[in-house]
Amino acid sequence: MSDIEIAQQANMKPIIGLVKEQYGIDAEHLDPFGHYKAKLSLEYVASLADKPEGKLILVTAISPTPAGEGKTTTTVGLGDALNRIGKKAMMCLREPSLGPCFGMKGGAAGGGYSQVVPMEDINLHFTGDFHAIGVAHNLLSALIDNHITHGNLLGIDPRRIQWKRVVDMNDRALRKIIIGLGGTGNGYSREDGYDIVVASEVMAILCLATSRADLKKRLGRIVIGYKADGSTAVYASNLKAQGAMAALLKDAIKPNLVQTLENNIAIIHGGPFANIAHGCNTVTATKTALKLADYVITEAGFGADLGAEKFIDIKCRMADLKPSAVVLVATIRALKFHGGVNKEDLNQENLAALEAGFENLERHYNNITQHYGLPCVVCVNHFTFDTQAELDLFKAKCAVLGASCVVSKHWAEGGAGAESLAQEVINIVDHREPGCTFVYDENISSWDKIAAIATKLYGASGISASAKIKAQLKVWDENYGKFPVCIAKTQMSFSTNPALKGAPTGHIVEISEVKLANGAGFIVAIAGDMMTMPGLPKQPAAERIDIDDTGKITGLF
Ligand code: ADP
Ligand code: MG
Repeated sequence: MSDIEIAQQANMKPIIGLVKEQYGIDAEHLDPFGHYKAKLSLEYVASLADKPEGKLILVTAISPTPAGEGKTTTTVGLGDALNRIGKKAMMCLREPSLGPCFGMKGGAAGGGYSQVVPMEDINLHFTGDFHAIGVAHNLLSALIDNHITHGNLLGIDPRRIQWKRVVDMNDRALRKIIIGLGGTGNGYSREDGYDIVVASEVMAILCLATSRADLKKRLGRIVIGYKADGSTAVYASNLKAQGAMAALLKDAIKPNLVQTLENNIAIIHGGPFANIAHGCNTVTATKTALKLADYVITEAGFGADLGAEKFIDIKCRMADLKPSAVVLVATIRALKFHGGVNKEDLNQENLAALEAGFENLERHYNNITQHYGLPCVVCVNHFTFDTQAELDLFKAKCAVLGASCVVSKHWAEGGAGAESLAQEVINIVDHREPGCTFVYDENISSWDKIAAIATKLYGASGISASAKIKAQLKVWDENYGKFPVCIAKTQMSFSTNPALKGAPTGHIVEISEVKLANGAGFIVAIAGDMMTMPGLPKQPAAERIDIDDTGKITGLF
């Protein structure tokens, strides 16, 4: 059965009653969106401030194949398993973007018997958060061009505007455009472009904001561009934009509650890109879950070199979160992929390739335990075509590494299939003080921060950039200080070359562009070619998606 067929057979319970039953939250604190989705009021969130916090567990992965290795599926499976063995556990996930839904990857609500539901709603529009984020972003764009049309009192240099427009669709034709054509009535023409909504700084801001006041402060801090001197920044607050933007985000800021196939509560809130942004769900959601549950399982985008690093160095550092453990998801097929096997042949047993590709896992494992200072459980996300010989070899390799390793079957069996994973996680997190270490000190220069990540985690021998980029970083260090860096790099490799599999060493990480995300509070360093507006593949998933006369959706994976 496909993911969507399984999801459509779910026995969903009305969310209001379920939240009351499991967490004692009264209906008055919830804004229902239909019967199975609800937003939690910020007043209720604030009322939890004095409660003790549960343990935070991060689910991350080895460098993935293009299909994804099952972080979301494992996050849901582990959460269901913890609840099954009598623990109070809540999952915190990211909201899916519409773009990839119609492209290659499909939905992002988990898979098999470890899913969150209603799957179609979560993948299509959900509670409208992304719409609100897109509109808040585009309001600022409109205010910029309007300001220039009406005399440009701020002296914004139209060639130095860095605030693009956004839409939640993979649409490569919009990457670079000319706006304002058609004469004086339509303003000034200039070069512009579109990013996908998840790449918007407004998304990153919403995910890191700790209150409405903090949201407004961060929105006002956004640098939209520069004046003619090329260095004097123009802020969103100069255009008095932050109030209206925050008003548009009035509901988007509230966490969304849904349930798993096994009727356990999950919060799905925020979904920033894992390359150009930090790739984690909202701080509000994570903190709320920590107050409500004893164990909170969350995921961070792409592999542990990107998602987990940003989770720790950006999110945990900024929000003062103290994680307790990491679950590193691996698949036999991805390891064979790193061992040189073609995508088409991944279902065939290949022990030599598995052995060779294991170095990718080893590097991630060592990074987590040595550089993030966290205990790590390796989880093999079991696929039906994994052979016993492959699983035995995998376990033997983990034993040599000294890593605890669990083969987990939550995709096929739901929470029941992940009970041993749950037990292993409990054994670890119940016997250590929460907390991690950072990869770099916040007081060193941005350049040294990027170098620390590249050499410690990626196995690079160094980093390089043009004199212009180095000078730019220096200026930002003087003016904005202390910001963490957010590296935008391919998820396919530890290097900037997606074709370099396994655990490459000695490579140089070339920084091709840097961006200041002053509202979010980090500096983006782009390494290699990075897409902030993806395109659709030759045969987009959209061609298979349909709805019948009864309103039933098919083809959404
Ligand atoms: P990630 O969060 O790492 O990107 P997902 O959990 O979204 O990955 O899974 C990606 C896709 O792979 C989903 O369509 C899911 O159904 C599928 N998948 C995950 N685990 C398995 C498995 N064990 N067997 C078969 N398919 C799986
Ligand atoms: Mg995912």
